[in-house]
Amino acid sequence: MIDAIFDKIEKGVRLTFEDGLALYQCKELPILSYMANHVREKKKPDNTVTYIIDRNINYTNVCVDKCSFCAFYRPVGSNEGYVLSYEEIDQKIEELIALEGIQILMQGGLNPKLKITYYEDLFRHLKSKFPQIWLHCLSAPEIDYIAKVSELSVEETLLRLKAAGLDSIPGAGAEILVDRVRTEVSRGKCDSERWLALHRIAHKVGLSTTATMMYGHVETLEERIEHIIKIRDLQDESLKNYGRGFTAFIPWNFQPDNVPLGQNPNIRVTTTVEYLQTLAISRVMLDNIDNFQVSWVTQGKDVAQVGLNYGANDFGSLMIEENVVSQNGTTFNVTIKDIEKMISDAGYTAKRRNNRYQVIN
Ligand code: SF4
Repeated sequence: MIDAIFDKIEKGVRLTFEDGLALYQCKELPILSYMANHVREKKKPDNTVTYIIDRNINYTNVCVDKCSFCAFYRPVGSNEGYVLSYEEIDQKIEELIALEGIQILMQGGLNPKLKITYYEDLFRHLKSKFPQIWLHCLSAPEIDYIAKVSELSVEETLLRLKAAGLDSIPGAGAEILVDRVRTEVSRGKCDSERWLALHRIAHKVGLSTTATMMYGHVETLEERIEHIIKIRDLQDESLKNYGRGFTAFIPWNFQPDNVPLGQNPNIRVTTTVEYLQTLAISRVMLDNIDNFQVSWVTQGKDVAQVGLNYGANDFGSLMIEENVVSQNGTTFNVTIKDIEKMISDAGYTAKRRNNRYQVIN
């Protein structure tokens, strides 16, 4: 079976659901590495591994949802809840610019006090003060919630956010795009169809997006492959209809510390081997997405470095500030020098990029 799958990969034949599942049974990591690198080299033949300098800004931690994997949110009314002021956000961006950063990844909770005008005013303020900074902001569940509390359609919401300065949308909040799983781990969030519809509309109105997968909790292997194929189908559709779609795919495993889901006796405990398998399988299944990121924030530096041999061509971002995953007890600090050394030690050439994955140095 594995030989037949590799034959398909070499001939550029798309893999099926059954192929994806069969690859999860393959315990010989070098084979998966070889397959994933074969696909990567076809798409990215120049041996470059890119990274971006950006900063996470978690503008509010107030959230009406209670995702069982999240240690970041505070319920409405909590005295630990916050919304950052313009001054605090500006200061973070000034620090980013001092480090040659070019993008902010701004995400937060589903805060019922913040309607569309809050975001429009904030984005207009940021674009006028920092026109060089790319606004990669707001996950699909946040935008879905902003539309709901503002009594707008998703399309109208996206058009207004884009007019105010939103440049692109991160792929957070996908978890696993199967409603059985979503009901268990993130009950209040948009369902899988709505997550996909929101990204479809974003592509339609001119915003590129990324896609993620948080695996390693209550999902089955079948549901992981279903997730990957849903992303692949939408990418086909968006590229055909709008000429844009997902710029990158980023898988990572659930971080079980300090969160209720971590106590669930049914969760699958995942390992480094499973991360590398999942990265490689995603790469060979998602034949229509160009860029794959390793997630050093969740996997650590060493595993991320190894991940470059499992189909990834991007090291993600310097991530000057990260609050969501670190609340689960996962913290790794890296510098630009660290990133460049890890990439070059793995045999690749490190290059800085922008949000469009264009090399900028
Ligand atoms: S993951 Fe996001 S939506 Fe879920 S509880 Fe945390 S902040 Fe809220």
